[in-house]
Amino acid sequence: MSLLRILLILAAAYIAWRLLQRLFPGLQPPPGRPPREFETMARCTKCGTYVPQGTLNSRGLCGRCAE
Ligand SMILES: [Zn+2]
Repeated sequence: MSLLRILLILAAAYIAWRLLQRLFPGLQPPPGRPPREFETMARCTKCGTYVPQGTLNSRGLCGRCAE
C-alpha cells in the first residue's frame, strides 16, 4: 500500500470522525471538570442567618423562621 493511500485513509477517517462529532455532540468528552457553581448567600430578614438564596421564601425568611 502506498504512502499516499494511507494518508488518504487517515484523512477520510479524520473527516468522518469530525462529522460524527458534529452529528452527535454528546460523544465529545466533557472539557475537564465543570466549574463549581456557587450559590448566592442571602440573609434571613428575621434571624439574620446567611443561607443560600434559593432557600429563602418570598418574604426573605429562612426555612426555620417561615415555620
Ligand atoms: Zn431566619
